[in-house]
Amino acid sequence: MSTTAGTSLANWAATFDFQPQEFHTPSQLDEIAAIVRSSARRNGKLRVFGARHSWNPLIATSQTSLSLERFSGIESVDGSAVWVKAGTTIHEVGNLLARLNLSLENQGDIDCQSLAGAISTGTHGTGIGFGPVASQVSGIKILHADGSHRTYTRDNPEWSALVISLGAHGVVTHYRINCVPMENYSMRSEKISWDEFVSTWDSRSYSTRNYEAFWFPNHDEVIAKITELSQDTRLQLPFNKSGVGARLENSAWWLLSEVSRLGPRGARFAAQTAHRLASDERCNGPIHRIFPTDRSVRFFETEYAFDFSVSSDLLRELKRWFQVEMPYVHFPLEIRSCAGDSQWLSPTQNRPTLFIAAHMYRKMEYRAYFKQLQAIFDQFGGRPHWGKMHDLEAKQINERYPRLSDFLKVRRKLDPNGLFLNPYLERLWGVTT
Ligand SMILES: Cc1cc2nc3c(=O)[nH]c(=O)nc-3n(C[C@H](O)[C@H](O)[C@H](O)COP(=O)(O)OP(=O)(O)OC[C@H]3O[C@@H](n4cnc5c(N)ncnc54)[C@H](O)[C@@H]3O)c2cc1C
Repeated sequence: MSTTAGTSLANWAATFDFQPQEFHTPSQLDEIAAIVRSSARRNGKLRVFGARHSWNPLIATSQTSLSLERFSGIESVDGSAVWVKAGTTIHEVGNLLARLNLSLENQGDIDCQSLAGAISTGTHGTGIGFGPVASQVSGIKILHADGSHRTYTRDNPEWSALVISLGAHGVVTHYRINCVPMENYSMRSEKISWDEFVSTWDSRSYSTRNYEAFWFPNHDEVIAKITELSQDTRLQLPFNKSGVGARLENSAWWLLSEVSRLGPRGARFAAQTAHRLASDERCNGPIHRIFPTDRSVRFFETEYAFDFSVSSDLLRELKRWFQVEMPYVHFPLEIRSCAGDSQWLSPTQNRPTLFIAAHMYRKMEYRAYFKQLQAIFDQFGGRPHWGKMHDLEAKQINERYPRLSDFLKVRRKLDPNGLFLNPYLERLWGVTT
């Protein structure tokens, strides 16, 4: 086990940093258990992190910080389900499953998150037929504050509180993931008019395996991305998914982002150029190869989840607002869908969902932009993504997440002394222990 004192840690977007008294990177289960026991004995605080890709300080602590990056790999296979160690990254999971001719059924647009980090925050991809990554979980093993290491399955009465939990119940050590056979998919993007996009969003979301769109605000076209099952077994990746191509694309994006710092005209130029340069992309292959993108230009992001039924009203309101108030943003809005989910803290809990994400280059002011968007999102009852930026406080979180109080009862039972809390979670949920 590697243990360090005096480390300073920051997240991917550098929106926060923290200096834990102790930082551990154990590779064995008994080492993780010893760290939990020792923190509990001292009545301390412990937070575990994955790839540090969340924007909010979910993982910040001044006491014990734990990374499971050295606790990774598939532990056992049971038909099409596998037990995976929680520190395994989505990227590693994809490659390991491919060797078994298996696959995750869906994933998001990067793959460097840890499995536990992605699952614990309700991370999702797009596709109205698929829940967040957490919905693929059929078993979970958690090391609790009392030192017990318990295995839970879907028949447990508290299951809905256990999978999306922001690390509040303990250290998750393993997940049982229900996989699907590895298949090939074709992905293509095309530009369509805004009006056509809005009027067909519902029907195309339901008739396409994975449908999403990128909209550069104030442009009268959107870039729609469509993924379908394919009989073509060739792996065809576009240039921007090769090492060199991804670096070139990121360099071009960095340059446009720098141009957008020059002011509104720069931002408009950058957005128009990016939209123009976005070619009709095509690729083919398994999802772990064609879905992930390489994002090296750092940015701020906010994302909210809405009842899918408000889609066209909300999209029209956003278009109106951008026209009137905020014409120049060079990052596109990302518009995705997701199936409803039973986890109490799932952004998609109990409703098919529309997700809308907005971004801003990390060297630019984002607060006013996100605040104004949040005011619109509030009107439509949006639930914030736990890992992405928002200003909501406990009262609003309670309103948006109707099963939060049920979740908190389970949390209190499993961690009565608040070993796994930090000041951010206390504020977010309005709890002390
Ligand atoms: C460039 C970029 C692209 C992104 N794309 C998407 C996307 O397509 N879709 C989407 O929904 N989100 C997306 N996100 C958000 C991201 O998926 C989430 O913030 C996710 O939580 C990050 O995973 P992580 O491994 O970095 O977790 P961290 O940020 O390190 O941790 C997140 C949470 O998981 C908990 N946790 C981690 N490991 C454990 C464990 N072993 N036991 C218990 N709790 C644990 C932590 O305590 C914390 O509460 C993106 C983020 C970035 C920066």
